[in-house]
Amino acid sequence: MGGRFLSIGECMVELSQAGNGLLRKGFAGDTFNTAWYAHACLPSDWSVDYFTAVGDDPMSEEMLAFMADAGIGTSYVRRIRGRTPGLYLINLKDGERTFSYWRDSSAARQLAVDADRLREAIEASDVIYFSGITLAILSHDGVETLLSELRRAKALGKLVVFDPNLRPRLWQSLDTMHATISEGARASTLVMPSFDDEAAHFGDPSISATIRRYRQLGAAMVVVKDGPNGVTIGTAAGETLVDAEAVQTVVDTTSAGDSFNGGFLAEYLQSKDPIAAARFAVKIAARVISEHGALVAPEKLVTATAE
Ligand code: ADP
Repeated sequence: MGGRFLSIGECMVELSQAGNGLLRKGFAGDTFNTAWYAHACLPSDWSVDYFTAVGDDPMSEEMLAFMADAGIGTSYVRRIRGRTPGLYLINLKDGERTFSYWRDSSAARQLAVDADRLREAIEASDVIYFSGITLAILSHDGVETLLSELRRAKALGKLVVFDPNLRPRLWQSLDTMHATISEGARASTLVMPSFDDEAAHFGDPSISATIRRYRQLGAAMVVVKDGPNGVTIGTAAGETLVDAEAVQTVVDTTSAGDSFNGGFLAEYLQSKDPIAAARFAVKIAARVISEHGALVAPEKLVTATAE
């Protein structure tokens, strides 16, 4: 039986180097990437919607058309007059990638201003996905609006899924980041952190410590990603390690965690088996990091799971 998946956050215009000083335009952003992979991996009786805000400029129109072309629903997206989408540029120097962002006044920062629309979208969904970046771009009031709707959804028995995606540069202070991320976890059923971020910014000495901290905040399940070391699933029943898939040549790790989350959720929503979901998702992530870019075409993912 199908259902409705909603992802909430910011999709940006992505500019990447195309040689000879030219830039290639694309669209990406952590929660959008996860929506992309969830849509690619879910059967057709599942709908995937993206909740964000865009402007009323041509680039916003193009972004919405891109989402719709990809099969991702945009009917809840707000349009804000006079605003534009956030943008980032991938710099490449001696094979090293760095990122420059223009997102301080992006339309997506206003995504929680219309609380009625947010509630309507969440009420219509079975699964709601958001991240620490979603929280980081919102005002204090926006965070409160979003979290109160998510707490309500969790209380109603919906699956609320959170990737803390810790990005200290997006937060006013580390204290604010720690406190708000913890509130995000409290509002969630399933938390999907990356261990290197949690160790660096919460000081967790081990994966078990990360699992314990988020479970104590109220998440029933914690799935901790640890790059090539695999993933650990923590529930009331204990911890289970699922190995990563071996990758011959890592081409571009952009979206490794986002694609893992999308693949995991797609499989978990069908089988309700987190171990099967993790085994499926490590294959998706391995395929994604073997290609360039954040969004790998769904056709290229099929071979990941057919083997
Ligand atoms: P994030 O992108 O959020 O930092 P990770 O680096 O932990 O997340 O990667 C997410 C998933 O991608 C891992 O759980 C693993 O399945 C896969 N992955 C990442 N790096 C590698 C690698 N070098 N080899 C194989 N799989 C990897």
